[in-house]
Amino acid sequence: MSEVELVLRSTRVVTPEGTRAASVAVADGRITAVLPYPGEPPAGAVALDLGDDALLPGLVDTHVHVNDPGRTAWEGFATATRAAAAGGVTTLVDMPLNSVPPTTTVANLRIKQDVARPAAHVDVGFWGGALPANLTDLRPLHDAGVLGFKAFLSPSGVEEFPHLSRADLAAVAEEIASFDGLLIVHAEDPAHLERAPQHGGPRYADFLASRPRAAENDAIAALVDVARRLDARVHILHLSSADALPVIAAAKAAGVRITVETCPHFLTLTAEEVPDGATEFKCCPPIREAANQDALWQGLADGTIDCVVSDHSPCTTDLKVPDFAKAWGGISSLQLGLPALWTEARRRGHSLTDVARWTATAPAALAGLAHKGAIEAGRDADFAVLAPDDTFTVDPAGLHHRNPTTAYAGRTLSGVVRSTWLRGHRIADHGTPGEPTGRLLERQRSA
Ligand SMILES: [Zn+2]
Repeated sequence: MSEVELVLRSTRVVTPEGTRAASVAVADGRITAVLPYPGEPPAGAVALDLGDDALLPGLVDTHVHVNDPGRTAWEGFATATRAAAAGGVTTLVDMPLNSVPPTTTVANLRIKQDVARPAAHVDVGFWGGALPANLTDLRPLHDAGVLGFKAFLSPSGVEEFPHLSRADLAAVAEEIASFDGLLIVHAEDPAHLERAPQHGGPRYADFLASRPRAAENDAIAALVDVARRLDARVHILHLSSADALPVIAAAKAAGVRITVETCPHFLTLTAEEVPDGATEFKCCPPIREAANQDALWQGLADGTIDCVVSDHSPCTTDLKVPDFAKAWGGISSLQLGLPALWTEARRRGHSLTDVARWTATAPAALAGLAHKGAIEAGRDADFAVLAPDDTFTVDPAGLHHRNPTTAYAGRTLSGVVRSTWLRGHRIADHGTPGEPTGRLLERQRSA
């Protein structure tokens, strides 16, 4: 066993069992023990006392659109992973679309990995893409190390990534289930979107009416059926409609292998407060009403919703025209997800232990990254050091995203990320990232 090199000590170490005073010992980039506080550090180890700053597991953000290569004016691996490091995120998983090429063949995966490798400030994994016409690429992508497969049930917004019909969905789910892979889905039913009024223009209420809850509810019901019928692993991306929670809860109770994520913007922003023309708030599915948000929080509290991840999906500022029908949809929040979520979680009586479970432990489990996502012996020494009682006002100029447009501009948030650690090394200090030392992650083969 290696010698302990580093001991991080805090009165608030956030472990899966709760938050307590402890010392975390690190050797060779891994946590070797969670020890009493204060205790004597082993001889030769560097000891750092964080005082009352909380030590959380580094966030595992499984929903990030890096867009690199191909749409690098929107984002890129260097800028996205710098933002991640500054915001306490130590692992991100890149979505397969908006880059050119998309991650839909092994050759395309290799192109993306080659771009990401020298640029990554945090660890990076990849989702593959499931299209109507790449069924025979799925097994090779799985063998090449993607963590699962993303599909759309409605138009994705980019032509190189077409959506699946219900017949396509059945075929894709069956193929992925044949190797017990994971299917992650953008769940909106296009028939409902086509029937909804499409006024366009600057009014948020018109945009909200164009993406009705029923589109999500019906798509999710169909996904639950597929998961049940095939005993397949299916994950619902960016849940917005809380009306779907009872169907999901019943499926989980019946043993259907379905998991769910939602995003900080659905939990912290409401339709009522989006100014007309403010398309930095546009995303699909959309931010809904305050009462819906309350129900999403209930879904988190009772365990129906598993994960909270960013769905960071940036674009250049010129694409955020003040018309909700024409603007690119996507909210940039990679660097802000932890404080945004913590601000509202705390107000609603949740703990840092809850936040760590939603943002690190559960997403790591979803992506099969057993060595990530929690402060316990054997996991990677990936940490976010958070001053949970400090506040700051979001200034887009302080963001490392390539295009610092964000729906959170001007908001005062609780929780300042003091530093971020990857495998026992500090990768960002007071919002300033260091050198890129991230690694590329591949699906872990079961023993
Ligand atoms: Zn997305």
